[in-house]
Amino acid sequence: MTKSFPDISIVIPLYNEEQVFPLLLERLDQIIAKSALSIEVILVDDGSKDSTPLMMKKKAMSNAHYHSIFLSRNYGHQIALSAGLNHVNATEAVMVIDGDLQDPPELLDELYAKYQEGFEVVYAVRKKRKESFLKKLSYFLFYRFIKKISKIDLPLDSGDFALMSRRVVDILNSMPEQSRYLRGMRSWVGFKQVGVEYERKERAAGESKYNLKMLFGLAYNGIFNFSEVPIKFLTSIGFVSILVSFSYLVYSIILRVFTNEVPSGFTALLFVIVLFGGVQLISIGIIGEYIIRTFFQVKDRPLFIVDQRVQDQELIVNHTANNKTILTQNELNNQINIINEELDAESKIKPKDQ
Ligand code: UDP
Ligand code: MG
Repeated sequence: MTKSFPDISIVIPLYNEEQVFPLLLERLDQIIAKSALSIEVILVDDGSKDSTPLMMKKKAMSNAHYHSIFLSRNYGHQIALSAGLNHVNATEAVMVIDGDLQDPPELLDELYAKYQEGFEVVYAVRKKRKESFLKKLSYFLFYRFIKKISKIDLPLDSGDFALMSRRVVDILNSMPEQSRYLRGMRSWVGFKQVGVEYERKERAAGESKYNLKMLFGLAYNGIFNFSEVPIKFLTSIGFVSILVSFSYLVYSIILRVFTNEVPSGFTALLFVIVLFGGVQLISIGIIGEYIIRTFFQVKDRPLFIVDQRVQDQELIVNHTANNKTILTQNELNNQINIINEELDAESKIKPKDQ
């Protein structure tokens, strides 16, 4: 049994990860068994539609090192992570990893060693990525672009995989922003931060849950939440075009006075009109991005809603934010039986599917 306040929490968001989940548990069990530190694992189900939640429930009910949080629907990776960070009990530090074993959880020791040297944020930097060329190229360009335009120092090639001190996690939890780009927020917090290189593996099983739209969403959040450059850029375009148009006016007047020629060029005129039509629409879009973010922030909705939790082997059903029901031992046993039956039924269905 762990003590209720372990040294380390490991937070893992999961969305339809039934294929990789057993492998993940195996690796985590080994780490927990070997480590001199007391470790808890916070699994967050981000509205999975497969058997991930069932397996999570079963694990957390039978093993006190594991706690599970079940969100009311799919909120996306960043929010699921935030939900996990909100439920940690660690006294020392919190490690964040993906559930697909692309981030080797065994790196905990190395990251923790740096934490002991006094670093409050130890982020993992991808030395190599084993992913498609297009994905690698997009990430490469994106991290360099956002580093250039951002006011704060965002490290290159580092995702959410990191170990943070409890203090930093408490600060992140107190940051109310709705559109979350956690790797940026983590840098914003400050203190002593350091990178540790690692090789990003391929997914151990299953497929990426991030589609192109979600990747763009994340990139947008990074750009618009951490940089004023898009808005400043518009102002610069405005100034440049005024300058160009005045220069042209002076040129035309000089031409008229000294040579009696009138500038012609219908094509050029059309080009400029259409060009600035485009520039203006993009400008409205960029302003819109900031307005949307303000709009959602002002609404002040909760970041996520927890449906159920398994904490210290107890199933807790959240009715509202403060009103929770803890199931009795009898109800709990019933739950475990139901889970076992459902898992059995699933494993019987599986072979026929394939
Ligand atoms: N994930 C999540 N909610 C989502 C999408 C993904 O919790 O809506 C989880 C997913 O289960 C995994 C992690 O976030 O543990 C990273 O996702 P994925 O591996 O699919 O992203 P990629 O590594 O391809 O960028
Ligand atoms: Mg992945």
